[in-house]
Amino acid sequence: MKGFISLSSKYLFLLLGVIGILQSCSRNPVTGKKELMFMSESQEIALGKESDPSIVASFGLYENPELQAFIADRGNQMAKLSHRPSLPYEFKILDSPVVNAFAVPGGYVYFTRGIMAHFNNEAEFAGVLGHEIGHITAKHSARQQTTQILGQLGLIIGVIASEDFRQYAEVASQGLQLLFLKFSRDHETESDRLGVEYSTKAGYNSMRMAEFFETLHRISAKDGGGSIPTFLSTHPDPLNREQNVKSLSAKWQQGKDVSALKENRDSYLRMIDGLVYGDDPKQGYVENWVFYHPELKFQFPVPRNWKYENSPIQFQMAPADGKALIVLTLGQGNTVDEAANAFVQQYKVQVKDSRRTTVNGYPAMMVISTQAAQEGQQQNPQNTIQLATWFIQYEGLIYVFNGMTYAALFNQYQRTFDETAMNFRKLTEPDKLNRLPERIRVKQVKKTGSLSDALLSCEVPAARHEELAIVNGMKLTDVVQQGSLIKVVSK
Ligand SMILES: [Zn+2]
Repeated sequence: MKGFISLSSKYLFLLLGVIGILQSCSRNPVTGKKELMFMSESQEIALGKESDPSIVASFGLYENPELQAFIADRGNQMAKLSHRPSLPYEFKILDSPVVNAFAVPGGYVYFTRGIMAHFNNEAEFAGVLGHEIGHITAKHSARQQTTQILGQLGLIIGVIASEDFRQYAEVASQGLQLLFLKFSRDHETESDRLGVEYSTKAGYNSMRMAEFFETLHRISAKDGGGSIPTFLSTHPDPLNREQNVKSLSAKWQQGKDVSALKENRDSYLRMIDGLVYGDDPKQGYVENWVFYHPELKFQFPVPRNWKYENSPIQFQMAPADGKALIVLTLGQGNTVDEAANAFVQQYKVQVKDSRRTTVNGYPAMMVISTQAAQEGQQQNPQNTIQLATWFIQYEGLIYVFNGMTYAALFNQYQRTFDETAMNFRKLTEPDKLNRLPERIRVKQVKKTGSLSDALLSCEVPAARHEELAIVNGMKLTDVVQQGSLIKVVSK
């Protein structure tokens, strides 16, 4: 049952233990200058090791041994010629459609399948790889990153364990994956420079890296700026970064035989032929404000116009104003009673009411509780969080709908919390159960002409041409030669 829940909260607590960070003074491996470091190398490695299981559990690993082997191989090769060759690097592809790549201190580098689908040659990938390795080798804001990872992965625990509810609910309403790891302008610039240096040393043409900024720029423009990938970051401007990387590349390529630098377009495209593109229905999907999970065979309504976010460990929903939050996750124990008791003990909530019931014939338990203000704070309805938690036993698992808001707003939201949980039911519609993901399909162009013509001859509907132009890193009017490869998507 891969795809929905695979992580206990154990890892999140492990992570919290790692924040005891000492400051020390040491030499920066990239600049060679002495500077204040928040972490020693062994602390960095420990942090990466501790964070990795949570990251993998939150997103899931993309199951494709060939692609995982490819990224590990290229990653390790490049790490060897970086400023910190002896770190225990790990390179992984996460099962997320979001276009993103990020690094965690200690040598952990992650690419999503979404970004792998958008690269059009190995040189673009290598440039981003060098950029991410650069964040690690130059020891960028290790501490700041860590706090942000915790803020994200510890979401549910954070909500219940602190009064910073508003902040978390707002994160949930914006889509938390996008907030992952933001760096300062200077750090992004330095990593761009290292991306050019490392990918050139590894034999790639880093001009292709520069061009990938255009792809990122187009993706964010298409989504109205709503899904700016971390790699792109809001500043400096992506098109400035493109120019900067181009001029750095020109310097690095001086005196080199540019035609001998690797791009590996065809081999890269053939490798990603069949890659899952966009949301994978088997991990659960929303259609007309209903969430369907074909593998676990259940469905329930999503409150209309709420924002939602699906991950392998939880599904969360929040209104745009961020004043409430419903999180679906798995409970502990074998019965609803056990799960409810474990919940009350773990989160130290004060139970106001609880009753046993059924939800569409399945054993269920509903608990209303409050989470008091933190120590030293006056308790009042503005800083007390009130929760309506539903535990439902279905096919050997306990599903927990945790609806929460400020006590002062509880009456306003309780009906939404209840209706969401009470309409949890078995999924039986074959059409919903057998939904297949779209995949990248690599096709050979039959006749020289515009990309638009080529897409039409591959039966791509016109409404998706602009999207596919971005995926191909081209304009629709660009000429594609007979026999060359392009990407289309189909089931
Ligand atoms: Zn970066």
